[in-house]
Amino acid sequence: MRITNLNPDSEIGASSWLLDLDGCRLLMDAGMHPKREGRDALPLYKFLDDKDLNAIAITHCHHDHIGSLPVAMRHSRNAHILMTELSCYVAGRVLHNSVNVMLRQRDERGIREYPLFTHDQVEELEAQFQGFRYNRQVDWAARRKSRPGSSSPTLEFFDAGHTIGSAGILVRGQSQSLFYTGDVCFHDQTILHSARFDGVRADVLIMETTRGNRAPSPGFTREKEMDRLTAAMQAVLSRRGSVLLPAFALGRTQEILASLALLMRAGQIPRQTIYIGGLGRVFTELYDQKALITSRHYPNLQLSEELQLIVLEKEELETISLGAGRIFVLTAGMLTESTPAHDLAVRMMADPRQGIFFVGYADPDTPGGRLKISKPGEPFLFSADAGEVTRHCEIQDFDLTAHANREALLDFAEKVSPKVILLGHGELSSRQWFEEQLRSRLPGVRIVQPDAGLVVEA
Ligand SMILES: [Zn+2]
Ligand SMILES: [Zn+2]
Repeated sequence: MRITNLNPDSEIGASSWLLDLDGCRLLMDAGMHPKREGRDALPLYKFLDDKDLNAIAITHCHHDHIGSLPVAMRHSRNAHILMTELSCYVAGRVLHNSVNVMLRQRDERGIREYPLFTHDQVEELEAQFQGFRYNRQVDWAARRKSRPGSSSPTLEFFDAGHTIGSAGILVRGQSQSLFYTGDVCFHDQTILHSARFDGVRADVLIMETTRGNRAPSPGFTREKEMDRLTAAMQAVLSRRGSVLLPAFALGRTQEILASLALLMRAGQIPRQTIYIGGLGRVFTELYDQKALITSRHYPNLQLSEELQLIVLEKEELETISLGAGRIFVLTAGMLTESTPAHDLAVRMMADPRQGIFFVGYADPDTPGGRLKISKPGEPFLFSADAGEVTRHCEIQDFDLTAHANREALLDFAEKVSPKVILLGHGELSSRQWFEEQLRSRLPGVRIVQPDAGLVVEA
């Protein structure tokens, strides 16, 4: 088999892997780079030119894994588009939102290449999505079956426990197999159960390495971290400040809302309105609607019924009173410019009563990343829009990640017993840590950190 890394960046970037196996071609993920603009944000689709794909398989609906699917399809109009049944409900909404964001950026920031695709194109594509249950064999290359009796490669989705519908992909060929983790979580979150990757064996393993540069702190548990967040929120609310929890609309928002619902049930946080974003509401309703077919805790917890959720409109961002002990769960998790969370953070920054609590990863190179390391009273450059600011509000970082801890990923890699491991989806220091650990734990296994466009023969 041949595997080509199409991520244009050496960091997390835009996930996309091209697999050639038994004369068939499969693209795994078609992401968009969250920090680049225009066509630079795309995977290296030049590697797809004039070679038809049999199928595109999507691990999950985060932007960095699905955001450029309509562009990938232009290179291969006959490809099947495969994902889990649950991802099918989400994918279209994510892509339509991308169109809206690109249109806004074209107008506000003059990015003339945008949009890279249109609402009509997304709609056309949606009709082609094929959704599958977990742990079913999918004959993704059947059309290419050349000789009767010859078996074409199959794929199988395994629940990755990262966000609704998320999956790892196991591809089986005639004599070789490959497993791609996608983004994976090996511990329970508030809603989602941990990944179910039991029994996975493969010759080649492509794994995410997001948390390779994060050593676990001694005695850390998710429960204790949640207690710490609860206490921090209680303190802000009791001094009549407001709390902003920046969160991605898909996954993080619902996990946080579920935690808040449980805290309110237990009387630890007073019952009150929670302000969310429009897209956050869409995905929250989806989590509710699909609760009974999702592998999750509290299947009867309907967030939209249990909580008083109000969508914070754009106009209110400037005017809503922050001195009344309010709770905001808004996008974006990294406080990217032109988002509600960014604009609200700017308003909160000067007031020591307010609390901005991070509950997910923020790239150091984003406004959220810079705010995380800012010192109270010391001016720093927050964003191009807001310029230099001085913060006096409380900032804290809580580790409630939806990505596997590094030790759990190492254990998994060992169980898969592959001959080759490809490291992706992580900063250089993360991949480096994994490479060193894997070399000593699995001597004889070939470990590769493939550069952008690098072809690996296995
Ligand atoms: Zn993800
Ligand atoms: Zn990702």
